[in-house]
Amino acid sequence: MNHVFGPVPSRRLGYSLGVDIIPPKYCTYDCIYCQIGRTTDKGIQRKSFYDAGSIADEVARKVASARVDMITFSGSGEPTLNADLGAMIRRVKERVDTPVAVITNGSLLYDRDVRADLAEADVVLPSLDAVTDQVFQRINRPHPSLDIRRIIEGLREFRAECSKPVWLEIMLIRNINDDPEELKKMAQIVSSLGVDRIQLNTVTRPPSEESVCRLEEGDLQAICKLFGPRCEVICSFERTEEMPAQADWTEIILETLRRRPLSLEDVVRTTSLTRFQAKTRLKAMEDEGLVRSYTLGDDVFYVVA
Ligand code: SF4
Repeated sequence: MNHVFGPVPSRRLGYSLGVDIIPPKYCTYDCIYCQIGRTTDKGIQRKSFYDAGSIADEVARKVASARVDMITFSGSGEPTLNADLGAMIRRVKERVDTPVAVITNGSLLYDRDVRADLAEADVVLPSLDAVTDQVFQRINRPHPSLDIRRIIEGLREFRAECSKPVWLEIMLIRNINDDPEELKKMAQIVSSLGVDRIQLNTVTRPPSEESVCRLEEGDLQAICKLFGPRCEVICSFERTEEMPAQADWTEIILETLRRRPLSLEDVVRTTSLTRFQAKTRLKAMEDEGLVRSYTLGDDVFYVVA
């Protein structure tokens, strides 16, 4: 199995080389906004899945041949469920100088071993979408043993112990977690955590549940003020530099699509194809039955068929 995908344009991390260390789809949550689809294996047990050395080899080969700003551990599920996460980060760092990030839902930060593994990274991006149990259950549909108060305390402990930057993402969904009372409580709790950045997001890609609605830019900007000066709305990726020419774009596009949906603009940014070429390539892939398109708001996204 190929564990490395991209580099893909990331709103927060530049050209981000994804490292997928979780089989689809093992996660502690089943978020209503998940881009990967429904969780088929919900659990909290950390397990070994893949060989750390082979993953480091794959990363090193890719970094040698493409522009990479950040190596980002994520997965087709929750990456901290991989018991070898810390060892994998260390093995990658022995091979390349590129900084390493981990994107995590933060649900296992109460576990000392998870915190120690994450401390190996250069930047950690946990998420927190709720501070009350009712909203937590609705948006994240967590494993029954998880408790939102324990998760918040785990985040607090991690922040206190870890000297690396911690950027907290909050995914906001209309009529789910944008209630003024929930937001007020969340702002109080998040301010007390002392994270370096608070990043507000909303649904911009096809979610697990089609009924999920995004917030408008204006709503996000207003909510941002509640969270103070460290808060920002993370906007679409604007960079337009071209990647070096590569041969098999169909396979490269598919490799990324297996992990996340892409818009036409995403494909243009991740490849050296022009807009016209990307559109033609995606149309051919759609005709061949490799991908299908999906409309969300004003945008068209592509997913693996
Ligand atoms: S969004 Fe992340 S945490 Fe939520 S279900 Fe998907 S993979 Fe799991």
